[in-house]
Amino acid sequence: MENHSELYFKRLQELESDPKVWLITGVAGFIGSNLLETLLRHKQKVVGLDNFATGHRHNLEGVRAAVGTKAWELFSFVEGDIRDFSSCESAMSGVDIVLHQAALGSVPRSIRQPRETNSVNIDGFVNILVAAQQQKVNRVVYAASSSTYGDHPGLPKVEDTIGKPLSPYAVTKYVNEMYADVFYKTYGLNCIGLRYFNVFGPRQDPQGAYAAVIPLWFHALINKEPCYINGDGETTRDFCFIENTIQANILAATVPEQEALNQVYNVAYGARTSLNQLQNYMGLLVQELLPGVTTLPVQYRSFREGDVLHSQADITKAKRLLGYNPQYGPFDGLQLTAKWFVGCHQRRNNTQSIAPPGTVVGQK
Ligand code: NAD
Repeated sequence: MENHSELYFKRLQELESDPKVWLITGVAGFIGSNLLETLLRHKQKVVGLDNFATGHRHNLEGVRAAVGTKAWELFSFVEGDIRDFSSCESAMSGVDIVLHQAALGSVPRSIRQPRETNSVNIDGFVNILVAAQQQKVNRVVYAASSSTYGDHPGLPKVEDTIGKPLSPYAVTKYVNEMYADVFYKTYGLNCIGLRYFNVFGPRQDPQGAYAAVIPLWFHALINKEPCYINGDGETTRDFCFIENTIQANILAATVPEQEALNQVYNVAYGARTSLNQLQNYMGLLVQELLPGVTTLPVQYRSFREGDVLHSQADITKAKRLLGYNPQYGPFDGLQLTAKWFVGCHQRRNNTQSIAPPGTVVGQK
């Protein structure tokens, strides 16, 4: 299934005829492994760096299964920590473009572990910038975050208008933006920051204390467990399907216009969905795919520390300067994601093995 905007499609074709060497940090994670899959499908050479802090070998196995042996040969993996400069240096050798995804995500984790979040997300980030600058990499595209809007109440969120951070995680992501700007001004390193808003899709981890709401709820619904909502469920988010996020990364990595460089962009769909709407729709999808599954009533509990009530992005800047054109609305994305989670569940039940399948998305 192809559903690209024309510009994105053109850029992918150009990359195929003139392949680049990419470094994806955090390649074993949710977003990193999906970026890897797209790049390998389009014949790019990719180096991956990860220490499996929150990523998984089974994500890499899933990519291998999805792209096949020939494309997989274009991938090399460095197991290492971005806090270790020599790992960054060796992964950076011969690289044209960096897609920096490695970080400790999650607001609650950062509240519990501020020092670790700080060291990975800031020291690690500076290591990547220094290694990229020393090795004269063309461009660094990095994962920034909507958490940078902090306590600013305005909606939709526009890049230039931010508030004060509400968590250690948000501080680290904002500091990343400041470092990227300074590395451009001081060393001429071209950077683009992508402020992701609630990305979801296949391979997002449903396990652990810091799992995001969509994989967590698919896991709960499929396993007949209750879904918990923090607050009254009228909290809204701008849920962004992974394929839109991949498009933004490829466009940012290849945009030729100078004015588009050394900027930060919102990456989202540009709409608001409440948690109640989300949970309701997810329940319907799971019941459709697994007839006979009865979903339990939602359980409401108190709001979570550090969370904002509403979030929605203005994506005008990314549309204007990058040509970003998100093709998947949240409900289209949820359908594809439901199929993936249900497929994993069925395979696991049939084989009693946890080997994940390749993605059902974007048979490119
Ligand atoms: P993820 O946890 O699935 O992926 C992060 C990856 O980074 C993992 O594979 C992890 O093992 C790796 N990593 C962590 N610490 C590392 C270290 N010290 N050295 C090397 N590798 C390390 O998370 P994700 O959802 O794929 O997020 C990717 C990026 O996007 C992160 O920077 C995150 O902050 C950012 N982001 C994500 C979202 C979202 O909705 N998923 C929203 C805003 C920003």
